[in-house]
Amino acid sequence: MKNQISLAQGREYLAIPGPSVMPDAVLQAMHRPSPNIYDGELIDLVPTLARDLKRVAGTNHNVAIYIANGHGTWEAALSNVIAPGETVLAPASGIFTYGWAEMAEGIGAKVELLDFGMSSSWDMDRIADAIRADAAHQIKAVLAVHVDTSSSIRNDIPALRALLDDMNHPALLMADCIASLGCDRFEMDAWGVDVMVTACQKGLMTPAGVGFVFFNDKAQAKRAEMPRVSQYWDWQPRVKPKVFYQYFNGTAPTHHLYGLRAALDMIHAEGIENVWARHEHLAKAIWAACEIWAEGGALEMNVTNGAHRSHAVTALRLTDGRGTPLRQFSERQLGLTLGIGLGMEDHAGCFRLGHMGHMNGQMVMAMLGGVETAMAALNIPRGSGALEAAAATLAIKP
Ligand SMILES: *Cc1c(COP(=O)(O)O)cnc(C)c1O
Repeated sequence: MKNQISLAQGREYLAIPGPSVMPDAVLQAMHRPSPNIYDGELIDLVPTLARDLKRVAGTNHNVAIYIANGHGTWEAALSNVIAPGETVLAPASGIFTYGWAEMAEGIGAKVELLDFGMSSSWDMDRIADAIRADAAHQIKAVLAVHVDTSSSIRNDIPALRALLDDMNHPALLMADCIASLGCDRFEMDAWGVDVMVTACQKGLMTPAGVGFVFFNDKAQAKRAEMPRVSQYWDWQPRVKPKVFYQYFNGTAPTHHLYGLRAALDMIHAEGIENVWARHEHLAKAIWAACEIWAEGGALEMNVTNGAHRSHAVTALRLTDGRGTPLRQFSERQLGLTLGIGLGMEDHAGCFRLGHMGHMNGQMVMAMLGGVETAMAALNIPRGSGALEAAAATLAIKP
């Protein structure tokens, strides 16, 4: 059989919304023998990570580090502050809220889910009604997904804080910033977030496997009232270890920590404000291309209001349902892997562009060029000049 000719040879590009592209500096930092886990540089390294993670999150409070993915941090956070039988409120604009809510049910909580569908950000009036109806303060926490990666909706966390404050409701505000930290502006203390969870494989540019739970004094006070907290998830020893192994309740994830150190160095060298501005500018170039493509009538952006869009992921839909062939073409023929549609009714028609973390202007143009090429190959109707529109956006100095 003759080999099929493919243009996929060359450096492949994983443009899905996590895991994100890993910088060479991160990979190189991990390429070393295992260190001593009882003495030496590893022991000195961990407090620097905690310090710099808190800078990225905008908090002076605490961070517990877990060997876990994002799902693990959901359970870790809940396990410290929600007892069986207690209620949490979960306003959903994508499937990641359902996932966190299920995790809450799994530890015995009652969940009040407010579903805003797959294309709308939170409806503050409906959240206000739910809070107002809870005069007895049964709701102990609000599970707030900042950016829902399935829909690419970005929710307004400060508005939710204001709402809880206005109504004098004591529920903890718990934020999922797994897709947003290091991409979209987030300021834990300034925004009044009590607990925040994130993981290392998205904006933090490190291979999946380490997750973080940030918490303030109000959350710690709730932790102190808990009848019991499972020992592995307990955040207390992890933030105030008496011996080094308690940071991780066992062997440290040695190589992840080296990789994370390199990633945090990159973020701080750039400056977090610049990191946010870069993501915003790149996202605007992507949206400019998408809006032109949409003129052909076959492609839609899932989130119509630009103010509610994530700067790290963009969910798109082909109305003729050909999302899967589009992704297959771009991966097999071009070496560009796009994100699958997640949680959508017409998921086969949907796909997502990941643009989080280690992304620059030429990568955005390559990703958009790949999508343009795949649409050409599939004869998908589209407006012309999408790449020019993206280029024009990037050509303006921020
Ligand atoms: C990726 C993601 C998760 C899940 O993280 P895993 O590491 O896959 O467990 C949860 N919430 C959001 C918003 C995410 O983007």
